[in-house]
Amino acid sequence: MSLHEAMLYEKQPDNKVKCCLCARRCLINDGATGFCLVRKNEGGTLYSLVYAKAVSACVDPIGKKPLSHFNPGALVMSIAAAGCNFRCQFCDNWMISQEKEVPGRHFPPEEVVKTARDGNCQGISYTYTEPTIFMEYAYDTAKLARELGFFNTFVTNGYMTPEAVRTIAPYLDAATVDFKGGGDPDFYKTVSAVPSVDPIYEALKELKRNGVHIEITNLIIPKIGDSINRIKELATWIKDNIGAETPFHLLRFHPDYKMTTIPATSIETLEKAYMTAKELGLPYTYIGNVPGHPAENTYCPSCNELLIKRHSFEITKWNLTKDKRCPVCGREIPIKGPLHPSGYSLPYSLF
Ligand code: SF4
Repeated sequence: MSLHEAMLYEKQPDNKVKCCLCARRCLINDGATGFCLVRKNEGGTLYSLVYAKAVSACVDPIGKKPLSHFNPGALVMSIAAAGCNFRCQFCDNWMISQEKEVPGRHFPPEEVVKTARDGNCQGISYTYTEPTIFMEYAYDTAKLARELGFFNTFVTNGYMTPEAVRTIAPYLDAATVDFKGGGDPDFYKTVSAVPSVDPIYEALKELKRNGVHIEITNLIIPKIGDSINRIKELATWIKDNIGAETPFHLLRFHPDYKMTTIPATSIETLEKAYMTAKELGLPYTYIGNVPGHPAENTYCPSCNELLIKRHSFEITKWNLTKDKRCPVCGREIPIKGPLHPSGYSLPYSLF
């Protein structure tokens, strides 16, 4: 077991420690681990058990994160370490997020960045599990990656403390923040074992204050997490607090892990949510996990011209000017970073 002293914790009486990385703020007794099982108190010092210990490494198109308005067409080196601070019963990465042991292979920051370069990636993505809980590994990798000209992105459940956001923000270019069930507090309590959703909204505001590009997803789960009122509330909050130009991805659920009896989300439900979010003023709303659906594409909010055509993670047609405007009406389209018209590759796994 490799130990690496943790960031962001406070020593407490009786050799206890308080972890301040995620909003659980676990108070951890000597010899115990936190809720995520990958941060351990040894004699009053908190250690990460997953530093430089990757459980997955893949080269992905950036559309898989999903990021649609950030370096479109780029390739990202995706890494994950074991563990999670949620207990989602539908997790599609449960084999690596909900492990009681701490698996992984030694994959230090220098090697991550070298592998990214060898794979012709433009950025590094900390993803698949919850990057907040492998902060030390992500932080050192992101810092090195930035120095060498790569961008960094988190795919996160957003359950971060403001101090965790401020710690990684200087090296973080973009974040995909994943909601489930429209952010319904009861859903989070019963299905994901999360006591409050409020910290997610606070983390989003902190990410925005720190200039990180934000895209938001919402997983729509039939019957238990498909309320149209929750979509309305979430879309309105995003518009009022993060901005009307925030990309909003409505994701199709598929049965997995402990939720195999619930069917996949119907296209009708997804389309209703899509229209609702657009009518509420989020023009860059997308439907995800439905390859070939027209709502995967980017359209001009002014004249409805098709600007970027997608099929799943692949961009199949570009129709933007070089300065990222609609070629018909000239409207500026909010896209951060350069376009990468020839960057597509099928995702491939290194381990
Ligand atoms: S990162 Fe882990 S140990 Fe720290 S507060 Fe969150 S769940 Fe607890």
